[in-house]
Amino acid sequence: MSARIIDGKALAKKVRRELKARVETFAETHRPPGLAVVLVGDDPASAVYVRNKTRGCRRAGIEHFDHILPADTSQQALIELVDRLAADQRVDGILVQLPLPAHVDARAVLARIPADKDVDGFLPENIGRLVVGEPGFVACTPAGVMRLLDEAETPLEGAEALVIGRSNIVGKPMGQLLLARNCTVTMCHSRTRDLAAHVARADVVVAAVGRAEMVRGEWVKSGATVIDVGTNRVGDKLVGDVEFAAAAERARAITPVPGGVGPMTIAMLLSNTVDSAVRRLGIS
Ligand code: NDP
Repeated sequence: MSARIIDGKALAKKVRRELKARVETFAETHRPPGLAVVLVGDDPASAVYVRNKTRGCRRAGIEHFDHILPADTSQQALIELVDRLAADQRVDGILVQLPLPAHVDARAVLARIPADKDVDGFLPENIGRLVVGEPGFVACTPAGVMRLLDEAETPLEGAEALVIGRSNIVGKPMGQLLLARNCTVTMCHSRTRDLAAHVARADVVVAAVGRAEMVRGEWVKSGATVIDVGTNRVGDKLVGDVEFAAAAERARAITPVPGGVGPMTIAMLLSNTVDSAVRRLGIS
């Protein structure tokens, strides 16, 4: 079998086009949705992520309020900024780019974001809502993965789904979303004994580890759908957590790296911001 390649770039473009239309309609009767982005320090990867997010906002017609602060910004100053953004009526979403510098307690800063402006879906309240099946913000990367699975018309009902990685921002919400779609979910992590055996049983594999090509193609069950969240720099190349070429020989559908999950993450952030504006100001 040679897998269908799930084109995250094309799907993200479609989502952004739909969002732009929604934003235009919304802004006719209200103000444009607004996203505040806080970046502290000069970590190059974070700077690139923030640039991509603000560019996404601009293209979709979402107003963005950028706060680019020096690395020595105090925790107190950050908390005061987040409090101001929390009270700002033009702001529907607050995104604090992680990681924050070591002298700042990231949890203390994030805790100041009101749950109804937590468009990253990182706060315990939104994670709790996901677990109990109440509406709230879902973390952008797992939300994007669900859209990719649907785009690939992946049968989920009763499927054996395997999530590799249990971080609060990717693995754990991913497991909940798959469970909500009636998958039988297995979560693997660094202490899992026989990862290969779990992969071999899975109809759906979501790899979110951060180790280049650790999921071997030969482990993948014939006809499985494989979503590769991992982004690993190897020399001057970006590779995923899955051995792509070999896995594509066996899978029915697979995401590439780059061009799979990454573009969808930003599209989902924009989508959450528009949803927030709609919820806060009324119908679109
Ligand atoms: P974390 O480092 O927070 O979590 C990694 C997870 O992988 C942990 O749960 C860890 O287990 C598990 N793990 C480590 N080694 C193994 C192993 N040998 N076998 C099985 N599991 C293992 O990473 P994130 O969740 O934040 O991100 C994961 C990857 O996804 C990274 O490459 C990151 O760059 C990428 N990413 C990509 C995004 C995108 O938009 N494309 C967005 C977010 C992340 P344990 O808990 O036991 O330590």
